[in-house]
Amino acid sequence: MSRRALITGITGQDGSYLAEYLLSQGYQVWGLIRGQANPRKSRVSRLVADLSFVDGDLMDQGSLVAAVDKVQPDEVYNLGAISFVPMSWQQAELVTEVNGMGVLRVLEAIRMVSGLNSSQRVDVGKQIRFYQASSSEMFGKVAETPQKETTSFHPRSPYGVAKAYGHFITKNYRESFGMYAVSGMLFNHESPRRGAEFVTRKITLAVAKIKLGLQEKLELGNLDAVRDWGFAGDYVRAMHLMLQQDEPGDYVVGTGEMHSVRDAVRIAFDHVGLDWRDHVVINPALVRPAEVEILCADTTRVKAALGWEPSVNFTELMQMMVDADLAQASREHQYADLLHAANW
Ligand code: NDP
Ligand code: GDP
Repeated sequence: MSRRALITGITGQDGSYLAEYLLSQGYQVWGLIRGQANPRKSRVSRLVADLSFVDGDLMDQGSLVAAVDKVQPDEVYNLGAISFVPMSWQQAELVTEVNGMGVLRVLEAIRMVSGLNSSQRVDVGKQIRFYQASSSEMFGKVAETPQKETTSFHPRSPYGVAKAYGHFITKNYRESFGMYAVSGMLFNHESPRRGAEFVTRKITLAVAKIKLGLQEKLELGNLDAVRDWGFAGDYVRAMHLMLQQDEPGDYVVGTGEMHSVRDAVRIAFDHVGLDWRDHVVINPALVRPAEVEILCADTTRVKAALGWEPSVNFTELMQMMVDADLAQASREHQYADLLHAANW
């Protein structure tokens, strides 16, 4: 019988890539959907055929118990979160509830469905394996560069603090109950499916529109911030590999390459033959109250222990995203022209 996976955050960037990957590996894949008419459900259904859905919300313990009980998964991937860092200063309590307490609720749902009381340890043969989407944002004001599994945390936003709670509660349930529970400390990963509010996608969408003459300027905040950006399609393979090991453990996942926001801008504009200096405007309102200045992964462990390697480098990633946004903006522009010509 094929293995079953339950993914929270199915409508997000990583959810769709992970679902595609697991389906290609012969899994039955279930996605947790929140809300009574989630508009992103039809988008992920279009992107990924053969998905099944189950209702639930990371804010609602009972719904998670019911979802785990219904799906009876072999593996649970907790990707659901409010993932945009600036949102976490505006709605700190909500972000803490979803990104922090939400992790505890999924772990509790697994524990309850596995029939354990608080003093029991999991029977290894019956284990539901659990993956937590931890984040390089936990390193925050970094103690060392590059960051590795043992680097201490100093989160710089309520998002990072909530992720640190999720990280430690995952480790604690592994140690307390013998659960197969792991955290992937993933560095920034992007794709043409990345949310438009994140800096890479904001840049590539703007470059496409500027190239087509639909926009003139691009407003950005801190161009000096440095990140280790990889391709989301590569990172979901690492998530899966983490759950296939004999022993559960936590891993840092990134490319080991550092680039600034300015590099991202330059590569994207260069790709369409434009000079970024003619179009980029600094808006101080986009600078964060506390910034994470530099992130870069030490990939020694993930490469040695999981045999994982990224397949897309930073320049290829930015160019892939520009090409996708150019194609989409061009289609939308042509459609608008057609409507205009038809006097609609
Ligand atoms: P997205 O923002 O694209 O997706 C977030 C998902 O979380 C959406 O499917 C959203 O569903 C869901 N969600 C939000 N609130 C709830 C809730 N209350 N209950 C259930 N689901 C909810 O994020 P990514 O795919 O980029 O990231 C996946 C995970 O990895 C996140 O946890 C993120 O914090 C983490 N991460 C991401 C990194 C990156 O660079 N992409 C780096 C490190 C960690 P809905 O449609 O209902 O809003
Ligand atoms: P994050 O690393 O998860 O916060 O991912 P983002 O893509 O949101 O931000 C990456 C870096 O880009 C951060 O250091 C931001 O301060 C910086 N940045 C500079 N200008 C912008 C902007 O206009 N939007 C966003 N989202 N980030 C910006």
